[in-house]
Amino acid sequence: MFKGILIEKDDAGYRAELKDIDEAVLYDGDVTIRVAYSTLNYKDALAITGKGPVVRRFPMIPGIDLVGTVEHSDNAAYKVGDTVVHTGWGVGEVHPGGLAEKARLKGEWLVPLPSAFSPTQAMAIGTAGFTAMLCVMALERHGVTPEKGEILVTGAAGGVGSVAVSLLTKLGYTVVGVSGRPEEADYIKSLGASEVLDRAEFSSPAKPIAKERWAGAIDVVGSHTLANVCSTMKYRGVVAACGLAGGMDFPSSVAPFILRGVTLAGIDSVMCPRVERLEAWQRLARDLDATKLEMLSHEIGLTEAMQVAGELLEGKVRGRVLVDISR
Ligand code: NDP
Repeated sequence: MFKGILIEKDDAGYRAELKDIDEAVLYDGDVTIRVAYSTLNYKDALAITGKGPVVRRFPMIPGIDLVGTVEHSDNAAYKVGDTVVHTGWGVGEVHPGGLAEKARLKGEWLVPLPSAFSPTQAMAIGTAGFTAMLCVMALERHGVTPEKGEILVTGAAGGVGSVAVSLLTKLGYTVVGVSGRPEEADYIKSLGASEVLDRAEFSSPAKPIAKERWAGAIDVVGSHTLANVCSTMKYRGVVAACGLAGGMDFPSSVAPFILRGVTLAGIDSVMCPRVERLEAWQRLARDLDATKLEMLSHEIGLTEAMQVAGELLEGKVRGRVLVDISR
C-alpha cells in the first residue's frame, strides 16, 4: 500500500480522496518510481474536482507530472536510483499518475533529470513550463524574432503564462501580459513583462480584423480571447494556441489568416514526440532564468492538493504549484 490521491467513479458518484492505495491500482509499465514531487496543472485540477472530463479510466491517480527515483526497472535505459522526470503521455488521465508515493510508467515516457535542474526545479517547470517552451519554439520555427515586435501572453499570472513571460524575456523579446488579476500586475512585470493588459479587453466577441499590434502571441485562454488575439496580429504574425482556460470554442473568422497571413500554431504537450521533448528540456536548461523559477512557483503538501485544485480553477493560484508527496 502507498499514500496518494485516488479518483473513483461508481454508483456513489465521482470523488477524489487522499488514501492508502493498493499496488494493484498501478497499471503496466517497466519502470517503478518512488515519487518525490508532483505538480498541479490546470488539467490535474479538472481531474481532481471532476469539473472536466479529464479522467477516462477508473480508479485513477491524478498528476500528469512527477519527479522521483527509480525503484525497479525492466528498461535498459534506467537503473535503480536514477532520478527521472515525467510529463504528459495521458498519465493522470488514462494511466495512474504522480500525486501518490508510487508510480509505474513506461521507460519511453521518461526523461532523465536534466543536469541543469534540481528535482524541485524540474517540477517548477513541469507540464506548464514545458508547454510554454513548446510555444516559444513554435514562434521561433515560424520566424518570430525579437526585432519583429511585441509578443502577447494571455493568462500571464498562471503556470504556462508565467513561464512563457520569463522565457521570452530572457530571449530578448518585448512581452505584454494579459491578466484578469490587477493585483498580479507587479508579479507579471517582475517576470519581465513590459506592460500588463486587462483580460476584459480580450473577452468580448472579436471583430474579424482589428488594429495590428502583436508579432507573436501565446494563448492559454481560447474562446473570444484567442479570436481577439488573432484579429490584432501584425501581418504574418504567429499565434501559439495551447489552452482553453476561457473556453473550448473559437468564435473567429478566417480574416486574420487570409488577409494578414497570420499563422495559428497548435501546441500539444501530451503526445509531443520524444526528440522534441528532449530538445525542449535542453532549451529550458539554456533559456530559463533559474531565479525566476523560484519567483513563479510555490510548494504545498499532498494533503493540501485537493483544496488547492479548487482554488486553481477559480483563478486564485499564481504561477506553478509543486506538490511535496512526503507531506
Ligand atoms: P493556470 O490555471 O495556472 O493558468 C491559467 C490562467 O488563465 C489563469 O491563471 C488566468 O490568468 C487565466 N484565466 C483563467 N480563466 C480565465 C478566463 N475565464 N478567461 C480568461 N483568462 C482566464 O493553468 P495552466 O497555466 O496550467 O494552463 C493554462 C491552460 O493551458 C489550460 O487551459 C490548460 O489546460 C492548458 N494547457 C495545455 C497544454 C497542452 O499541451 N496543450 C499543457 C498545459 C496546459 P490571469 O489570472 O493572469 O488572468
